[in-house]
Amino acid sequence: MAYDILSDEQREVRELVRSVVRDRVAPRATAIDESSEFPWDIVETFREHELFGLSHAERFGGSAIGTLMMLVAIEEVSNVCATSGLILAVQELGSIPIELAGNEEQLDRYLPRLVSGEWLAAYALTEPGSGSDSAAMLSTARREGDSYFLNGGKRFITNAGVAHLYVVFAKTDESAGHKGVSAFLVEKDFPGFEVGRIEPKMGIKGSTTGEIFFNDCEVPAANLLGAEGDGFKIAMRVLDRSRPGVGAQALGIAQGATDYALDYAKGRETMGKPIVQHQLIQAKLADMETRTEAARLLLYKIGSMIDSGMDGPELTKASAQAKLACGDAAMAVTTEAVQILGGYGYMREYPVERMMRDAKITQIYEGSQEVQRLVIAREMSRETRVNLFSS
Ligand SMILES: Cc1cc2nc3c(=O)[nH]c(=O)nc-3n(C[C@H](O)[C@H](O)[C@H](O)COP(=O)(O)OP(=O)(O)OC[C@H]3O[C@@H](n4cnc5c(N)ncnc54)[C@H](O)[C@@H]3O)c2cc1C
Repeated sequence: MAYDILSDEQREVRELVRSVVRDRVAPRATAIDESSEFPWDIVETFREHELFGLSHAERFGGSAIGTLMMLVAIEEVSNVCATSGLILAVQELGSIPIELAGNEEQLDRYLPRLVSGEWLAAYALTEPGSGSDSAAMLSTARREGDSYFLNGGKRFITNAGVAHLYVVFAKTDESAGHKGVSAFLVEKDFPGFEVGRIEPKMGIKGSTTGEIFFNDCEVPAANLLGAEGDGFKIAMRVLDRSRPGVGAQALGIAQGATDYALDYAKGRETMGKPIVQHQLIQAKLADMETRTEAARLLLYKIGSMIDSGMDGPELTKASAQAKLACGDAAMAVTTEAVQILGGYGYMREYPVERMMRDAKITQIYEGSQEVQRLVIAREMSRETRVNLFSS
């Protein structure tokens, strides 16, 4: 048997996910892209097979198999359909803040519904004028009695319009910069909450990306997550644990494109032999395979770090490295996969052009690749290193 970094038990879980992907997700991938419709049937499949609960505690209905295996599941699903992989990744993104900062009442009220998939979650940080610079957000929350009233709006929110619960960041103190940001659990039916335009986009077309608005949106004070002013800290701790989900999505896309291109190269002949025997094609395939495998090691490392309970700067750096490596691998590998298929690669009939369009977003969201590099370099500059040339 081929060497595998996963244990026998973990491989069994992967096999289960793979069979679900083969039977239920792969046959839907092209249609999801072409229709640009949110795939509720895939949500139902994930619910049925309890995939939303892989990383969550049994107390909330999860199977507690761990973050690493949730990443593996996202990878497997994204191998054929990045929109479907994102459904799992965003459910994590919306659940992690509650796990990290929720009180007992919030944990019991919301997590079981998210872990079962009965409710979908969204994470609302970005605004029209603030993406990378999220502390520059303008949305506000003012307390009156037992409620907060939220005003403002968010943009580019994944699951806008399909989520039941939105983790929203808004300023309770506009003069305090990032220390004035607070986090709220906002249900879609709270008065004053509204979904705006859903954006047409390049890839992950079945996923909704849209605006949400708060018009004096009334949120019970009990739905403040953590303390007032904790929001930015919560947002950053969440990203340390959720960025790997995007990395897993990217990794799945990269592996799917590599596998497809390899198969095609074995069957397509030019100049009297299969193109897989041309050295320039071999070089591409070798680079695609190596880049994908290297990214996988960084991703599985961060999954294991999270499962071991690690926190702090080391986790922040490893998370950014995994997302950076996987996202860049996905973009490079899918571009080469299109090249290996030649003219056919550019056609809708073959999945690699979809994979290339889908790959691009993994370099942009949950912190662009530039932001990941800033984070990694910042942590490097704070580390005490041994330089063997110094005396
Ligand atoms: C499909 C999609 C889904 C999304 N889903 C969500 C979601 O669910 N929730 C959510 O909150 N947000 C979401 N986003 C928003 C996403 O996280 C932001 O788009 C992203 O963080 C970049 O922010 P921006 O678009 O404002 O770009 P900007 O911050 O304006 O950046 C523009 C460019 O400048 C670069 N840049 C910015 N600052 C620096 C710097 N200091 N040094 C070097 N380069 C820099 C960026 O890397 C980028 O290339 C989504 C976006 C998309 C497109």
